[in-house]
Amino acid sequence: MSIHPTTEPVAEARTSASSPPQESASALASSATATTTAATPSGTRGGEKQGLVERITLALFIGVPFAALVAAVPVAWGWGLGWHDIVIGVVMYFVACHGITVGFHRYFTHGSFKANKPLQVVLAIAGSLAVEGPLVRWVADHRKHHRFSDKDGDPHSPWRYGETVPALMKGLFWAHMGWMFDAEQTPQQTYAPDLLKDRQLVWISRQFGLFTAVSLLIPPLVGGLWSWSWQGALTAFFWASLVRVALLHHVTWSINSICHAIGERPFKSRDRSGNVWWLAVLSCGESWHNLHHADPTSARHGVLRGQVDSSARIIRWFELAGWARDVRWPSPDRVAARRAA
Ligand SMILES: [Zn+2]
Ligand SMILES: [Zn+2]
Repeated sequence: MSIHPTTEPVAEARTSASSPPQESASALASSATATTTAATPSGTRGGEKQGLVERITLALFIGVPFAALVAAVPVAWGWGLGWHDIVIGVVMYFVACHGITVGFHRYFTHGSFKANKPLQVVLAIAGSLAVEGPLVRWVADHRKHHRFSDKDGDPHSPWRYGETVPALMKGLFWAHMGWMFDAEQTPQQTYAPDLLKDRQLVWISRQFGLFTAVSLLIPPLVGGLWSWSWQGALTAFFWASLVRVALLHHVTWSINSICHAIGERPFKSRDRSGNVWWLAVLSCGESWHNLHHADPTSARHGVLRGQVDSSARIIRWFELAGWARDVRWPSPDRVAARRAA
């Protein structure tokens, strides 16, 4: 594989959860118009266009946890943050975060390893707990991002409005969250036909609402039982449900905004992706985003000395357990070939 600008990362993306990729992205793109009919299965409950109700729901799901996050800091000093809440919140945060990074991103979007069926299902569910949209939509959007990265067609480039400071400020907001309100949705048949062929994955993707409820209800349930009090349920809901979801949202979105605006670029990529070290732990290794765009199928993003990448560590554990195989680990040659001059 080459990292020359003509390479289409989406073409290297896995195109099947159960069978190997056969078609290139451009072939997929051209066939999609012909195959998109009313009978086409959908990995989400909404259509290809975003309706008003969907948009209001989205605003609530972004706004309410964010309001909790803003309220959280002053509240922390005066009221009810116990160590139970911290433990539940941290566990839920990293389960959902790795569900996104190991599952939705490195496995489902880019096929950087092969997973057995139980692992596949676990990853799909863990990622759904992050409340970042249905699996199929997430993957379709992200493959489109790689296909056009920072060019026309990229769903969330911070450079969308130009290079001046006001344009970049506007673009950063767009890349961070504005893009999600775009009525035009990434066509699933074009970008995630492999996932749509897998009935189990489509089911999980369509049950996004259910997994959102599960994600929000586990903390109060555990917190209530653990402390045997309603107060414990309530504080766990506040911290480990709302604040945790909001924090992970903003960390994930920062990869789209911050990591395409600033950061070091030690590797050759055809876009503006950068490595941002201070997001590495919270983003579970995804903020080594320059390497990721230089080598999208690599199972490890933090390839240089000292670059923390917990997702790569977890993939390694899955490999040792025999649940993951054919892992695309970056060899020293491969890394060297991608170094910027
Ligand atoms: Zn990117
Ligand atoms: Zn990616």
